[in-house]
Amino acid sequence: MTDVLVIGAGVAGLSAATALRAQGVAVTVVEASNRIGGRALTTPVGAFGFDHGASWLHDADRNPLLAFAEPASLIDTDKLRRRRVLVAGRLADAAELAEREAAMALFDATASACAEDIPLARVLDPIRANPWIASVEAWEAAQIAAADPADFSVLDWKLNALEGRNLAVRGGLGALIAREIAPRAGAVELNTPVLSLDWRGPIIAETPRGTIHARAVIITCSTAAIGGIRFMPELPVSTEGLPMGLLTKVMLRAKGGGRLGLAAEESVSARLDPGERYLSFLAWPGGADYCVAFIGGPNAWALAREGEAATLNFVRNKLRGWFGAEADATFGDALVTDWARNPWHRGAYAYARAGFAGDRAKLGAPLADGRLVIAGEATAIDGLAGTVAGAWNEGRRAAAIVQAAL
Ligand SMILES: Cc1cc2nc3c(=O)[nH]c(=O)nc-3n(C[C@H](O)[C@H](O)[C@H](O)COP(=O)(O)OP(=O)(O)OC[C@H]3O[C@@H](n4cnc5c(N)ncnc54)[C@H](O)[C@@H]3O)c2cc1C
Repeated sequence: MTDVLVIGAGVAGLSAATALRAQGVAVTVVEASNRIGGRALTTPVGAFGFDHGASWLHDADRNPLLAFAEPASLIDTDKLRRRRVLVAGRLADAAELAEREAAMALFDATASACAEDIPLARVLDPIRANPWIASVEAWEAAQIAAADPADFSVLDWKLNALEGRNLAVRGGLGALIAREIAPRAGAVELNTPVLSLDWRGPIIAETPRGTIHARAVIITCSTAAIGGIRFMPELPVSTEGLPMGLLTKVMLRAKGGGRLGLAAEESVSARLDPGERYLSFLAWPGGADYCVAFIGGPNAWALAREGEAATLNFVRNKLRGWFGAEADATFGDALVTDWARNPWHRGAYAYARAGFAGDRAKLGAPLADGRLVIAGEATAIDGLAGTVAGAWNEGRRAAAIVQAAL
């Protein structure tokens, strides 16, 4: 028996538990997997950390997680960023780079001017003759939002287009959350998935490790993982309009001293030719001895279905095309993230489908007089959906609602 049951120990769950505990509310946090952090997970790679999921503190000047980081541990990646842009296998010339800049501005103006809840891809149709638009669309929709542009609400893109500085954390963002935030949230019952939730009266949650009775519940699972819980009665809100997008990262570790002539934090991308699959690439983040390839949206889902070897082959082939045989000589071990198949996530983060731009607010609306609240990155409507900052703010919002209800 507890006052508040928090389902999930990702950033939103840890945030809710921290806020409630600080008010003296009895909280039980259950987590399906064998670790805390959810989509914030760092693996040590030599002296550095590799973030499988979240790595940047976006929109730094209003990011609540900044308060937990040592200033000296923050890396201003925007300042360090150099960009290498390729066209047909060679470096883009000055005129092409100017065309690319102009296409980005055209994309912004066109998408921002649309007030209808229609797919981003449709809004871009009138400007598709521009040779850079496919690349900008792949970057903004598939890579940043992990979404399918043919399905992605332009209004959702507009609300969540991130602005402000982006900071990375030396040692990894997942490690920071585990070290600085998790202890404030208190004990977490690991390996305890909630299988069913009866919310007709007092909350009754069934888990393989027993039944939990609570006065209120905060559900922080991804929109796909919510579907794995049997609700009694069924929830009156749907996750259909908020599918999980996918962003797959491939970490490639240097096997010698070769650096492909790329500086730390230098990014590489190429103008998309018709029928080509997009890839973006970040060299030696924070000076680490690995690089990261990013694959997003439908392309990432298709490769995830083909399997890890196919994903790795795609990346290695791209790099061979960009850097020749030196790419193979540079990299040894690789790690392919698998958010697609992870049963407790089943994707990277949610996007709103065209026609469903209002569904983030609907999903997060309090139920049962404030005794049941769904909160996480997917319910953020502060422009920070899909980020750890949005998840943190949502955890606090949910905590305030259930506390008032109790
Ligand atoms: C590849 C990738 C890159 C990203 N990059 C960034 C970035 O650079 N910056 C940024 O801000 N954000 C980034 N994000 C997004 C960020 O990681 C998420 O928005 C945030 O971590 C989500 O937190 P959450 O608490 O809402 O959900 P989660 O982290 O998913 O937490 C929910 C928890 O619930 C658990 N759970 C699920 N079902 C059950 C159940 N039935 N019972 C009990 N527990 C359950 C899960 O195991 C999980 O631990 C990235 C994500 C990915 C995948």
